Amino acid sequence: MSVCVNRGGHESRLRLASTPTLEQEICLAPECLGALAAWQARVGEILTVEGPDQTAYRVRLVVLTETEARCVPFERLRQTPESTLSIDIYQALPDKECFELVLQKLTELGVSRIVPMQTSHSLSLAEHDAGQKKSHRWPDILLRAARQCRRAMFPELHEIVPFEEALQMAGQAELALMLYEGEARWTLDEGVGNYKPNSVALMVGPEGGFSEAERDAAQSAGVLPVSLGPRILRTETAAIVAAAIVQNRVGDLR
Ligand code: SAH
Repeated sequence: MSVCVNRGGHESRLRLASTPTLEQEICLAPECLGALAAWQARVGEILTVEGPDQTAYRVRLVVLTETEARCVPFERLRQTPESTLSIDIYQALPDKECFELVLQKLTELGVSRIVPMQTSHSLSLAEHDAGQKKSHRWPDILLRAARQCRRAMFPELHEIVPFEEALQMAGQAELALMLYEGEARWTLDEGVGNYKPNSVALMVGPEGGFSEAERDAAQSAGVLPVSLGPRILRTETAAIVAAAIVQNRVGDLR
């Protein structure tokens, strides 16, 4: 199974055991220390933590040692930045700049997991990193985007996986769709239908597109090939647009 490389997802959530009082310093539970390390948090930093009743708070970190973390909540958010819908994106590895854009925008759109994959027409990690190695910057891009949009967690970033493994992982979501630029019988809209799943997986192809064999394999694995309309989008546009549509149809993007 593929490995998460950045301790994102639920591991990065900061939870409070009880409802805090604004401007009153509180101690974070020991379980939060791991999440704070994943965020690379420092004293003085402002973070989003989740209260016991789906409420999120902005807090300032005032003490951070190996054994203790204390913070001062100063704002109660009207709405939690984390939707209950989990969206996982399986993205065929594109050019350097493209993937950085995808990481940043998908984080803003609230996705839970990003899995780069290698398909028959995509770049390999070695090709992606040729000349100047950029993949080590990926976790940092996610973190910065998550801080900027005040998320309470940042997306899990997985190591790059072969298409077949991505297919297996995607097939575990309650709704799994492949964005297919060739002739697809259904649109993304129809693929979602009136269904209200808790988890959605979206597979996005490379500039060279998915092969017919990959489309057939997806269909056999229960991953429905769907179209995003009559224009061929760049891979990064397709990923961002599809995540936004799903977040709007099923999640919290209004
Ligand atoms: N080279 C291909 C285009 C690939 S576009 C061609 O010319 O046909 C890159 C990826 O973005 C595709 O594999 C698909 O996952 C997604 N995509 C782009 N436009 C799309 C559309 N209109 N419908 C569904 N998926 C699309």
